[in-house]
Amino acid sequence: MRFDIITLFPDLFDGYLTQGLLGKAIERNLTQIHRHDLREFAPNTPHRPVDDKPFGGGPGMLIQVEPTVKCVEAVREKDTTPARTILLTPQGKRFDQRMAEDFAVSERLILLCGRYEGFDQRVTEILQPEEISVGDFVLNGGEVAAMLIVDAVVRLIPGVLGDELSNIDDSFSRGNRILEFPQYTRPREFRGHKVPDILLSGDHQAIAKWRDEQSRLRTEHRRSDLL
Ligand code: SAM
Repeated sequence: MRFDIITLFPDLFDGYLTQGLLGKAIERNLTQIHRHDLREFAPNTPHRPVDDKPFGGGPGMLIQVEPTVKCVEAVREKDTTPARTILLTPQGKRFDQRMAEDFAVSERLILLCGRYEGFDQRVTEILQPEEISVGDFVLNGGEVAAMLIVDAVVRLIPGVLGDELSNIDDSFSRGNRILEFPQYTRPREFRGHKVPDILLSGDHQAIAKWRDEQSRLRTEHRRSDLL
């Protein structure tokens, strides 16, 4: 699966793309992540401006329509694989696990990261992107939101996780859409806190039943909206 990230700060992704599961997925060519500098589509003047003041007044600057549309069009043409274009904005549809699963079956996602006060409205009118928000709060830019989406989607690409079943029980995931059960590892006891006996019993049926109950209880207490 290919991601194209359009941003004014391509270097922000440096460390993120080389570490952990994502770094390994890139190394193994399970995913390809390309960064594109929006400023390369700015007028060829010393400061290469991509932003300007909003018509009608008001604070802050807006990213202009011309460099943005030209950049997205150029990126779309870089590969013949059909792409979904996603514009990151706090005003978009809220990203969640179901959406991550839907994105994970696409072959290519173009992620358009805003800065300042966001984009000129004509970017949406012309490019018709899917407008996606990562939550009801305002970030300084779309880069962290793009990383979040890449992170959630990449772990769903077959082969990325060591154990193919390990995302089935994840909270919100296809297994049950509720919260995951509590988990423990060694030691068996620490400062008087013991691992529940059932998990040491070797009785796989009983363990599965206990985990199921714990998942439900936890969801009831923390996120009853999911039940
Ligand atoms: N003035 C905009 C508004 O009120 O809707 C917010 C602009 S925000 C400071 C700058 C950029 O950060 C946005 O264009 C967007 O790309 C990104 N951003 C901020 N919050 C976001 C969120 N919750 N989800 C996705 N992207 C977000």
